[in-house]
Amino acid sequence: MKKSNEYVVLEYTECDSSYINELVDHINLSSKEIVDFFDGISFQEKANIKLFDNLDAFRNSCMKIWGKKEAPAWLCGLTFKMNNYYNIYTLNLEEYKKTEGHNKHTLTDLKQLIIHEFVHVCHRKYTNDAKLMVWLSEGLATTLSHQYDGCKDSFDATLEQMISGGTKYKNYYMMFSYVLTTYGRNYILKLLENKEYLSNETPRLYEEVINYYSK
Ligand SMILES: [Zn+2]
Repeated sequence: MKKSNEYVVLEYTECDSSYINELVDHINLSSKEIVDFFDGISFQEKANIKLFDNLDAFRNSCMKIWGKKEAPAWLCGLTFKMNNYYNIYTLNLEEYKKTEGHNKHTLTDLKQLIIHEFVHVCHRKYTNDAKLMVWLSEGLATTLSHQYDGCKDSFDATLEQMISGGTKYKNYYMMFSYVLTTYGRNYILKLLENKEYLSNETPRLYEEVINYYSK
C-alpha cells in the first residue's frame, strides 16, 4: 500500500493500519518544515520510504546496500541513493521495538525516526552528497526531528568524535542545537555549503559547546 505527498512516497502494509493516518499527518507537516529549512532543494523525484514489516527482511536489504554481512542489533533506519532516487528503509512499529534499545519505543519515536532519515535526504540534496562532519549531519537529523527535545543538557564527547563519529547521538544533538540557537539557520546553511569554512569553524564551536554545557 502507498501514500504520498509532495516530497515522499510511503510504502507500508496492513500491519500499520491502526496508526497510518496519524503517521502520514506527521510526515506531511514535518517534511514541509524540513524542506523549508534547506533553501531551494527540489523534489522532482520523490524520496521512497519503505516501512518493513519483517525485521530479518529489513536487515538483509540493508546489508545488501551496505555490502556487509551482519546488521548491528540497533539498526532501524537507512537512507541511500540508487539510480538518482533517494530511499529510506525503516521498520514498522512492531518490528522497530525488536531492535536493540528500542523495546519501549512508541509511535512518536517512529515518527521521529522517519523524519530523522528524511533530514538526511534533504541535507544530501542540499550539498550534492558531500560527506559532512558527523556532528553536522547527525546534529541536523536529531535536532530537526526533535528526537532529544526535553532531554537534560549534557555533553561529553571529544572534538575527534564530533568530526568522525563514535559517540552518543545525544552529543551531536547538543552541539548542533547550541549552534543553531546561537548562530541561526543561515549560518548552518553556510557551513553546509563550504567544507573549508566548516573545518575552520568546528574547533571554535566545539570549545564554545564545552564551555556552555559545563556551566
Ligand atoms: Zn542519522
